[in-house]
Order: sequence, then C-alpha cells, then structure tokens
Amino acid sequence: MKKNLLSIAVAGLMALAGTASAQDYPTRPVTLVVPFAAGGPTDTVARLIGASMSKTLGQQVVVENVAGAGGTLGPARVAKAPADGYTLLLHHIGMATTATLYRKLPFNALTDFEYIGLVGESPMTIIARKTLAPAKLSDLVAYAKENKDKVTLANAGVGAASHLCGMLFQSAVGVPLTTVPYKGTGPAMNDIVAGQVDILCDQTTNTTEQIKGNTVKAYAVTTKARVSSLKDLPTTAEAGMPSVEVGIWHGVYAPKGTPKPALDKLVAALKVAMKDQTVVARYGDLGLDPVADADVTPGALQAKLKSEIDKWAPVIKAAGVYAD
Ligand code: ASP
Repeated sequence: MKKNLLSIAVAGLMALAGTASAQDYPTRPVTLVVPFAAGGPTDTVARLIGASMSKTLGQQVVVENVAGAGGTLGPARVAKAPADGYTLLLHHIGMATTATLYRKLPFNALTDFEYIGLVGESPMTIIARKTLAPAKLSDLVAYAKENKDKVTLANAGVGAASHLCGMLFQSAVGVPLTTVPYKGTGPAMNDIVAGQVDILCDQTTNTTEQIKGNTVKAYAVTTKARVSSLKDLPTTAEAGMPSVEVGIWHGVYAPKGTPKPALDKLVAALKVAMKDQTVVARYGDLGLDPVADADVTPGALQAKLKSEIDKWAPVIKAAGVYAD
C-alpha cells in the first residue's frame, strides 16, 4: 500500500517535471537537419530561418547537413530522433515525391512526423554551363536531341527537386539524357560553373546569383509568371515548354510525439522568421516567395504534403521512375 502511494507520488512528480521541462524548452541548442549538402537552396533557407529562430528561441538553431540518397537520409534520421524538440527537419517537395519514387523508404512522411509549418516557395530555373552553345530553350532542346548520348543533366539524387524538374525537362525534350547525381545543389552548381556537367534545373535560391554573375547560361524559369528578381528570363511556357512548371515548397518537421509546448514555440518562432526583415529581404533577392502567416501552421504543411503526394504520384507512376 505504502509502496503504491510512493510510486503514485513519484509518477506525479515525474509528470510535473516533464511538463516543466517541456515548458522551459529550449534549454540547449536545436539541430535543424538539412537533407542535402551545404551551399544548396535547402541549406540556404535553413540557415536564414535558423538564424532568425535562434533569436526568438534564445538558443542556437544549428544546421546539420545529412546529405545523400536524394534527400531521404535526413528525414530517416529525424524520424528516429528523440521526440523532444531538439531535432528538426527542413525539407522540400521531396517529402512528397519520394513517397512514390522509392519502393522502400526508412520513414513515412505522413505518420512519422509532427508538422511545424510551410516556409516558402521557390521557382526553378533551367540553366547550363556557360560554354554550352544553345542560346535559347528551343535551341537547347534541339541540341539535347542531337547530342543525347553526350549531354549530361545534373541533379541532387533521385527524389531531389532538381531530379523532378530534370524528369519533366527530359520528357519535354523527348529523349533520355545521362543524369549525374550529387549530394545537393552546392556541389552540382560547382561542377556546372566549372563546366564539368551540362544542364541543371534548380531553385532560384542558388541560381540567381550565378545567372546575374554570368557564370552560367539561363534559359527559363519554371513558374507561370516571371520572377521579379530575374525579370528578363522567360517562363518555360513563354519559351515553348509549358509542361515544365513546378514550384518548390519547403516545410519544417519534428519527430512524431514531440511535446505540444515545444511545437507551439517552434511554430511561433517560425512565424517570426517569416516576417523577419533579413529573411524577407534575402527571399526577395533570391526569388523566393515567403508564405502567408496562415500557412506557417502544422495544418497547412500537413495539407500541402498530402495534396502534393496525390499530385505527383500519377506523374511519377506514368514516368515509370522508381528507386530502391
Ligand atoms: N536544390 C536541391 C534539389 O535539387 C537540393 C539542395 O537544396 O541542395 O532538391
């Protein structure tokens, strides 16, 4: 009897301590996992947002690049991390496309995570090494058809946004090209600039400065409307390739079971980041659209993920591209 009372008291104290520690959150640095190499668009967004969230949370948000396997290693790592609010994931559309692309995944995007919110949308751009001859998109298509055995298409692995855009590009060209996978856009961009690989379709987050600096050739932006930071660049529709239309959304996730008080603080800090003048200005320079306050919510990210899985599943199935 005594023992029972004691264990009830201990359990009560532990529950109280648990609540208190969840409410004190965060008391140490928070890791934000990026599933691609440093220097790429996902990394850029994570570092920008992480810096702002650090100020609000009063603890450092440290970006960790867990790159490889088309961006699937990062979510796998976060899905298995302790659900205590100290390990988060920033990922893009790949959370939705890999659900169909991969026959087997070590995580389930719909059941293994808590959702924090959407963090913006980025157009893609079709670019090439500067020395590639074609001047406009229609010339690039003709060139790719004529040289299909030697043209190379860089991407950040099966499941990356660049892979998705590359698939759309190849099906518009009508011939399969040789793809060269990297661990992220950072290293892929280095090789485009160095002239080691021919074509890349990637986010304006990383292509804008290269396009403006004239270190790469740019052909089109993949959104319906032109992007104000690259206003001379035609849309794919204007350049004769309307089927290559894609925007890359990003979201922040936590492991399933992360305590609600921690999630609430993370949502609040993310909302502040989306309005942070440094973030807003940099987003503008890089052609990124910040999201409306109402979309910086768990529900908005969850709904987006579900709708994007449904949107891309038939496209991927029709293309017959799968990874193991
Ligand atoms: N932009 C890359 C992609 O193709 C990944 C990265 O952010 O490095 O998905």
